[in-house]
Amino acid sequence: MKRINIKCPYCGSRAYLRPASVVYGDHTDDTGAKLYVCARYPVCDAYVAAHKDTLLPMGTLADRNLRRKRMEAHSALKRLVASGLMTRKQAYRWLQTQFGLPEPEAHIAKFSELRCQKVIDLCRAFSRAQARAA
Ligand SMILES: [Zn+2]
Repeated sequence: MKRINIKCPYCGSRAYLRPASVVYGDHTDDTGAKLYVCARYPVCDAYVAAHKDTLLPMGTLADRNLRRKRMEAHSALKRLVASGLMTRKQAYRWLQTQFGLPEPEAHIAKFSELRCQKVIDLCRAFSRAQARAA
């Protein structure tokens, strides 16, 4: 497996692959989930989930505010899909088009707070436009 060096964008320390229980507590030990956690955690509260199969980071390290924003953006997208206006696949393709991003970059785990807010706004505007058209 390729070793990857990841730096924390907040404090510049290295991030290390660690069991998710380091952050979430022991009850998550059995899941085998892993996170890239800033070496200065918990002083620097930045981490990101790793893909289970490849162990590559799902996106960039995020602090509390960014994590909250990413969660909001995810739920906005989920609501859009749940409303039946788009499939999950269509929703991600739509995001790619909106931001002019190639597919590997069009993931909320890679987005900044600003871009996450844009996702939330776009989803709202899309739903509103659909409601008007109906
Ligand atoms: Zn850090």
